[in-house]
This record gives sequence, structure tokens and C-alpha cells, in this order.
Amino acid sequence: MFSETIVKHYSEYPIKFKSLTFSGRCRKTRIIDYNSRFGSIINSFVSLSGVGRKSFDVPVTFNRGWHGNMKDYRKKNPDYEYTITFDERNYQVNIHLCKDDERYTPQVHGETIGIDVNCKHNLFSLSDDTTYDYDRKLVNDFCKLSLEIDKLKVQDKEYKVGKRKQQKLDTLKSKMIKSEQQLIANMCKVLQSQGVGHIVMEDLDNGFGKCYVKDKDNEDINYNRKVKFLGLGSLKQEVEHIARKYDIAVSTVQASYTSKMCPICGCIEDENRPSQETFECIECRHKDNADFNAAKNIRNRVLVTVLRESLLKQMDNGAFEPKKLKREKVKEVLLSFRSNLQEIARSECTNGSMTTFDYI
Ligand SMILES: [Zn+2]
Repeated sequence: MFSETIVKHYSEYPIKFKSLTFSGRCRKTRIIDYNSRFGSIINSFVSLSGVGRKSFDVPVTFNRGWHGNMKDYRKKNPDYEYTITFDERNYQVNIHLCKDDERYTPQVHGETIGIDVNCKHNLFSLSDDTTYDYDRKLVNDFCKLSLEIDKLKVQDKEYKVGKRKQQKLDTLKSKMIKSEQQLIANMCKVLQSQGVGHIVMEDLDNGFGKCYVKDKDNEDINYNRKVKFLGLGSLKQEVEHIARKYDIAVSTVQASYTSKMCPICGCIEDENRPSQETFECIECRHKDNADFNAAKNIRNRVLVTVLRESLLKQMDNGAFEPKKLKREKVKEVLLSFRSNLQEIARSECTNGSMTTFDYI
């Protein structure tokens, strides 16, 4: 029978739940699908991910009259919240799915803050000059163990990760994910208390602009790999998910030139970054910590009207996402903004007054 195969499959790699309810998130395009084996007593499967980043299938009974159309559960960009409850008395497992459109989306309100994400120095650097860092020891332990396994695999192609090692790796990984979520929650809590209702981040899905950086703690690990370890690719979704609980809306902007641009005079040059740690504008000599500078540029993309209107589009809740533009086009917009700034500066100078830009 089908159920026996399932029991056999999971008895080898059991998923242990420590409580009777479990909540997670799943991004599968087909979270539920009919059983392809026609005539089986199990008519469909719910396929979930998010349990220690493993995926598992739960046999369920899908009832059109009750659950609606199966097609409604299929999405191009799925992001389901689910809760599993174990009903001990009736030996039942219930799965509650929360559809996207039923979820509360915070409206943009209050203060806006920019966040630069970077795993070299601090995970989050904010435009108000504060930082939040991940648990480096945990990440380093995880990286070391992964590398060790990699080396063994290179030495012996037949090498299989032992149970204990795999368990250690899984434990480290789930601890890492938890501590990352805790970090985001702490940050959101502080921001909420400061009246921040809107955070702006770079669009991380299109890869990192700063991938060339090597990490001094883990010379062997290239940055891309560490980004992957830290789950930074899905960080935006993670932040969005947690920020919602604190009534904070999340906008994203193009990552291009956020680290090289001067927020005072608009100058964009590679030379504005004399080192990884510092930003110093070659035109106006404005100096800042490189990550804080990026965070301010990220925030300005939303706060400065001309940048916002040319680079972003607004969503229903008032938050923004980047328009699909080529890197050169983004630069063109930024440069035209720069010449505007120079115009203003010139006219202000003839009036004999000082120019101040209140957007940083
Ligand atoms: Zn400058």
C-alpha cells in the first residue's frame, strides 16, 4: 500500500516534532497535488518544506466542495504559511494553509529606514548607523564542517556523510536559521519602537553586487557560498515575513551603485571606495562607513522623488519594488539626478546660501 511506502521512507529519515503544533513556510509551486496513482485511497498529497529545510509529503484528503479548486493552490510565486496541528485523540494531522491574499500586508507608514545586507561585516547595517550581526561562531562552525565534508568528498568519490556528522550539520543549520530569524525579529522590534513602519532593502534575488569579497574568518569559503549558507537569497522573504508581525512594510530597490554613490553630491565612482570599510567621495570628500553609506543610498532611492519615480513601481500597500531596468539605465537615472543636484547647488550658490539636502 501507499501508506506503507511512506512509513518506510520516513522511518529512515524521521522528522521529529517537539510540539503538537508547527508553523512554517513553503514556497512550492504545487503545495498540493492529486495523487497520480489513480484509484488509491489517498487522493492527494500536501508537499511541505521548511522543516529543517527538508521537504516532506503528507497524504491528505482533498475535497473540492470544502477546499475549493485545486488550481487556486498553484502560484507562480508561492509563499504559503502553514500550521500543522497533531490531533492525538483522533490520530489526525491537520494542515492549515494560509493563502497569499488572505494575509495581512502592512501599509507604508511612519519613518523609513534603509538596510544594507552584507555578510562580510555586519549582516544588517541601517541608515541610522546601527548594526545587527549574525552569530558568527555558529556560521563559522557550520562552514567548517561543510568544508570538511567537501574535502572528504574530493578525496573519496564514494564518500557518504555519516549519520552523526549529518545530524551535527542539520543541527547547526537549524540553529543558524533560528538565530537569523531571532536577529530579524529583534531588529524589527527596535524599529517598531522607534516609529519605523517602512524598511527598504536591496533586491537580493538578482545576486549580490559585492560577491568578490573574501571572508577573513573563512579564507577557503568563497563569499557566494557563505551567502548561500546564510540563506541570504531568501532573506528578503524572511524579513518581509517577520516585519509583518511588527506592522512594518518592506520595499526593495535595485542593488546597482548603492555602494559607490555619494549621497551628498551624487558622484558615482569606483574610487569612492578606497577600502572595503570606507566610503570617501572623490568629488566632495564626504566620508562614511561603507555599509552605512550604502544603507543611506538604499533609503534615498525611495525618499528622493526623482529616483523613486524613475526606478521603482508602487504596490498596493504603498511599498515599492524595482522596475525591471538594465544596470546602465539605472546609472543613467542616477547620473541625471546628479546633474540636478549640481544645478540646485549652482543656483543656491548665486543666492549666497548654503545647500543642504535633508534626505540623508
Ligand atoms: Zn560627494
